[in-house]
Parts: sequence; C-alpha cells; structure tokens
Amino acid sequence: MHIVRTQQTPVWLSSPVVDLIVEDDAVAGAVIDRNGRPTRVRARRGVVLAAGGFARNREWRLKHHGIPGYSAAPEGDLGTGIDLGARVGAALELMDDAWWGSGTVGPDGQHGFVLSERSFPFSIVVDAAGERFTNESASYIDFGHAMLEHPVPGPTWLVTDVRHARRYLSTAYLGRKKEWLAAGILFEAGSLAELADKTGMDPARLAATVERFNGFARTGVDADFGRGGTVYDNYYGDPRVKPNPNLGPLERGPFRALLLYPGDLGTKGGLLTDADGRVLREDGSVIPGLYAAGNTTASVMGRPTRAPAPPSAPPSSSPTAPPATPPRPPATPPRPRNAS
Ligand SMILES: Cc1cc2nc3c(=O)[nH]c(=O)nc-3n(C[C@H](O)[C@H](O)[C@H](O)COP(=O)(O)OP(=O)(O)OC[C@H]3O[C@@H](n4cnc5c(N)ncnc54)[C@H](O)[C@@H]3O)c2cc1C
Repeated sequence: MHIVRTQQTPVWLSSPVVDLIVEDDAVAGAVIDRNGRPTRVRARRGVVLAAGGFARNREWRLKHHGIPGYSAAPEGDLGTGIDLGARVGAALELMDDAWWGSGTVGPDGQHGFVLSERSFPFSIVVDAAGERFTNESASYIDFGHAMLEHPVPGPTWLVTDVRHARRYLSTAYLGRKKEWLAAGILFEAGSLAELADKTGMDPARLAATVERFNGFARTGVDADFGRGGTVYDNYYGDPRVKPNPNLGPLERGPFRALLLYPGDLGTKGGLLTDADGRVLREDGSVIPGLYAAGNTTASVMGRPTRAPAPPSAPPSSSPTAPPATPPRPPATPPRPRNAS
C-alpha cells in the first residue's frame, strides 16, 4: 500500500477482475467490472493476479478437499483469480491442501479458528469415542492434518478443566457462552461422566483417557503424542504449570467440551509460478505477461513436513525426563454420536 500511495497508483474498490485480455498468446490486460460496466485495462508490463485462494468456494472445497470448508478466510475468497489463470492455460498445484487447523462453527454459521486454546494446559482434544489422537500443541497445519486423517468418524471435542476457562482467553465463544451452550456446540458439566453423556462419548473411555493424560501431566511427559516436548509447543503454554507448561490435568469441574471442525486460514493450492512469480503452464513454459502472488498461487511452502514420531523427551524447561509410561491399548470402535 505504501508503494501504491507513493506512486499515486489509482485504487478501484469493489471492482473485481472478471477476465484477462490475451493477445498473441500473452496476457495484455484485464477486464474489470467497474460499477457494473466491463472496463478494459491494458497492462504495459504484465498482470499480477493476487485475489486470494478459494477457501469460501464450497463447490471447489468439496471437489478438492472433500469437505465444505470451515474457513476463517473472508467470504470473498472464491478462487476467481485461480479460475482466470486456469482459463488461460495455467497449471494448478496443491489444490488438495490448505492452511489447515482446528475451527469452530458458531450458531450464526460464522467460522472461527482455534489455536492457543487447544495448546494451553488443562485441556485435551478427543474424538467421538473419547480418545486423544494427536499432539494438541502441534502447529495448526499438523493439527488440521491429524484431524482430517483421523479414521474415527464423528465429532471432535476440546475438553477443558475449569482452570482452562478461568485462566485463558477462549476467543471462540467469548461473551457468547449461553448461545453456544444452547446451540449444542459447547457443553458444560460438573463431572466428566456427565460431559461424556451430553456429548455422546463413552464415559468409561473418556475417564480412562483423562486418567492416562493426568499421569502425563504429573510426570511432564506425554508418552503418547509428545505434547509440550518442543519449544514450539511451549509457546502457547503456561510457564506457571509444572513440570510441563502444556500439560495440566483435567480434575476440576465444571468441565467443558467444545465442538471442533477441520478449519483453515485459507487454501494452499493455485496457479503454479516460478521464482519470479511468473505463471507457468503444465509443460513448464511461462505464460507471458501473467504473474501471481499469495494464495492465488500454489504455496511456495509446499506440503507440511510432519512432526517426528512422539518423542519421549521431557519439555524443554525440564532438566530430566521421568520414565515413559507404557503404550496405550488399541481403541475399540466408537459408539454412534448422539450430540448435536
Ligand atoms: C483469521 C486469520 C488469521 C491469519 N493470521 C496470519 C498470521 O498471523 N500470519 C500470517 O502470515 N498469515 C496469517 N493469515 C493468512 C494471511 O492472512 C493470508 O495468507 C494472506 O492474507 C493471503 O494474502 P493474499 O493477498 O493472497 O489474499 P487476501 O489477503 O485474501 O487478498 C485478496 C484480495 O483480493 C480481492 N479479490 C478477490 N477476488 C477478486 C477479484 N476477482 N478481483 C479483484 N480483487 C479480488 C479480495 O477482496 C482481497 O482483498 C491469517 C488468515 C486468517 C483468515
């Protein structure tokens, strides 16, 4: 914006690009919908498509991701820039990937993103059966992939002890707890058994999961998923909680369960570009005059490198590692969900 202002470049608001002008196999300009009138703008040096990804394009989400998408990206993130590039022959890459993470869908249908809440202590994330399935303090991309790849069907819950609610900011339903409770997106109960009953989890399995997790909280080592074992995890931890800032036991009610979806901050797939931002065709040749940036492009970050297998190392702040607990028994099939 600073460059635009310095150069005194005119900025047209609410004026979407609807087409590209192609002459002699090169992009020579764009057609802009200006106040309802198609306006042709010629480009002397090139056209840069930077119109975001397709997080809010339900049809594309179902096609490429198999889910409608529960994105925190703006509603206008419809993939129009990607579509324009594809129409002039651009190659598309990473269309099946996104900036995944855990999300919420409020009673009003608005999507939210849940990040610090699942990493802070006194919380676990469980599947419909009441079992943990990944490191709750992992990066949002890794956590989102873990949600999508987890084979147990049904809802995913962020289960918290009262200390989580009292100490940490829960942006998802801040100031709207009653509404979220009424909508069956959030549940509250005096005991874990009652919480399991309300959410359709098996009370015995939830109790076993919590008992095992509370043991990890005492030793400071999550022997199942290595939560809190890296500096990255500890960023959204509570240094007052010892011996591991990400592991606080779930002991005190009222307990809460918040329904989580595989959300995202936007999509990763789009036009394939080279190191100079030039848009490429399938055969690797450059489309002259066409450039792209941001989420309109296939991300230069590529696919995530998954975190290594669960470490048995202590948290970064702990001087010695207590012995790891034995591996947990295999899960039995979950019972059908009966919540929301
Ligand atoms: C809640 C949230 C938190 C985030 N936090 C971080 C963070 O902490 N750090 C970080 O690095 N990233 C963060 N991100 C991601 C970051 O915001 C995006 O990666 C970035 O905004 C993408 O930039 P972009 O220019 O590709 O798209 P956008 O910022 O979406 O801009 C695209 C623009 O194109 C316009 N447009 C769409 N279609 C057309 C059309 N046909 N013609 C003309 N204009 C069009 C849109 O209106 C929009 O103004 C976050 C995202 C979200 C949703």
